[in-house]
Amino acid sequence: MKEEWCYQVQGKLEIPYRYFAGEFLSRFFVELRDNKKILGVRCPQCAKVLFPPRSVCGRCLSSLKEWVELGKTGTLQSFTVIRYSEPTHPLPAPLAIGLIKLDGADTNMLHLIGETESSTLKAGLRLRAVFKEEREGSILDILYFKPEP
Ligand SMILES: [Zn+2]
Repeated sequence: MKEEWCYQVQGKLEIPYRYFAGEFLSRFFVELRDNKKILGVRCPQCAKVLFPPRSVCGRCLSSLKEWVELGKTGTLQSFTVIRYSEPTHPLPAPLAIGLIKLDGADTNMLHLIGETESSTLKAGLRLRAVFKEEREGSILDILYFKPEP
């Protein structure tokens, strides 16, 4: 028996938008697009290398100016597998998303994991970035990370 309070209304929202990435993310996206470089910034006070790059350290509030090239490899910290497809997902299901600590960084990045079976994923797995051939200045210029052989 269906209750009235759980009636579902079908809807669709599509909201195209643009935003100014600012000084730090602009440089990050341009280096990613033009040179396949993944950049972070080092804090002069606490020495943490932060990703994504930002102007102020969230830990000690110092101004950040030192750019650091991070590795194209990293270690899987945690992950989840999405087993249904949505038009907004960048890959068809099953879709693995991981928290990845890039080599040289003290923070994690969230990104897709590809070229693997989800049953083989585990924390500690070494991963390598796979870049798009035609990059456009987006975090999805990194198609996904795949396990290192
Ligand atoms: Zn700091």
